[in-house]
Amino acid sequence: MNCPYCGEDDTRVMDSRPTETKIRRRRECARCGKRFTTYEVVERPLLMVQKRNGSFEAFDRDKLMIGILNAIKKRPVSAEQIDALIDRMESQYANEMRSTVTSVEIGNAVMEQLKAIDAVSYIRFASVYQDFTDVAGFIAAISALDPPPSEKSVSKKLQTKGDHNYVKKSE
Ligand SMILES: [Zn+2]
Repeated sequence: MNCPYCGEDDTRVMDSRPTETKIRRRRECARCGKRFTTYEVVERPLLMVQKRNGSFEAFDRDKLMIGILNAIKKRPVSAEQIDALIDRMESQYANEMRSTVTSVEIGNAVMEQLKAIDAVSYIRFASVYQDFTDVAGFIAAISALDPPPSEKSVSKKLQTKGDHNYVKKSE
């Protein structure tokens, strides 16, 4: 990092403070002694998503977030949990050095994680994502729930708009 005043490349970091997406560094030039601030931005590797129709688009975290937020509406699932869910996916793809994932993989990964967080949110997401056109698809999604709930508890969960026990806990 060169000094903006004299161009010297020997600068010392005085102080380093991470914020949400960037790291703020206070530096001092070893030659002229002037101080300046730099910001280091954490760059996520570019991830392309191949859609069902074969076309590609850049992975859009916000778009995925909105899709999931619709599924968890009025459910005991926090935005932080969804943030962490997407983080895990992004980290996994980054660790695997993936530059492309399919929208099907993303959908499946979200469903897999939602299933473990909240059954109702999972069913909602699955119904939109898999575009249930028949009862069979719906039943397949429910049967994928692990551990498999009894028919009684599934129908109860689907009928009840808010789970009062959960609501009380979060208050
Ligand atoms: Zn300098």
